[in-house]
Amino acid sequence: MEFIFDTHAHYDDPAFDADRLDFLKDLQSCGIKGIVNVGADIKTSQLSTEYAEHFNNVFAAVGVYPQNVGNLPDNYLDILEELAQKQKVVALGEIGLDYHYDTVDKKLQQRCFEEQLELAKNLNLPAIIHSRDAAEDTLAILKNTKPQRFVVHCFSYSLEVAKQLVALDCYFGFTGVITFKNAKKSVEVLKELPLNRILVETDCPYMAPEPNRGKRCDSSMLRFTVQKIAQIKGLQNLEMIKSLNKNASEFYKINI
Ligand SMILES: [Zn+2]
Repeated sequence: MEFIFDTHAHYDDPAFDADRLDFLKDLQSCGIKGIVNVGADIKTSQLSTEYAEHFNNVFAAVGVYPQNVGNLPDNYLDILEELAQKQKVVALGEIGLDYHYDTVDKKLQQRCFEEQLELAKNLNLPAIIHSRDAAEDTLAILKNTKPQRFVVHCFSYSLEVAKQLVALDCYFGFTGVITFKNAKKSVEVLKELPLNRILVETDCPYMAPEPNRGKRCDSSMLRFTVQKIAQIKGLQNLEMIKSLNKNASEFYKINI
């Protein structure tokens, strides 16, 4: 069996309070080579660095998610910078724009997104980007800040937006959503993307793939997502896994 690297997971989530350690201690029994645990605020970024410190094959990303930028301390960038110096921190994220819920001021989201992209550049780290209902502003900010490497995770936009992102050398993260019946738009995008720009992720505990849609997602379900991606790209599973692992390794600059 070929082990898969899960490029985006949230084992800090309360959904894993009862069995978090079982997963982090023994990812191999899920068929998983390693994971990046992605922060969404200061606290979960800190937790991500602790997991990375304690567990083999667990890496961390630190950052503040757009819906969480409302009550940040003034020195949040200093705090993130300090966390980013810890061992096995491989990216800034997840950061971005989310206009789906009208709860956090758009200008504030944009400012924090730009500031964290600049920090990523200064630290020589790639950025993990969350973007929902905000394609135009996301593109404008990326064109302006020009991060070295970035992924738009859980990609949900049209082929037209994807093409503009390909021109910026973007990576594209796909979750279990690609296995859903109504994922036609994402399938169309995935078909067109270059093989070396595709990353696979659970985004667990969210986005469980078919046949587990609606359940708590964990990394053991990643194989269903990989199977679907392989089918769409017309590759054997093994070939697909090798390609996805290589992309993860190049994106995060880690040996996996
Ligand atoms: Zn996420």
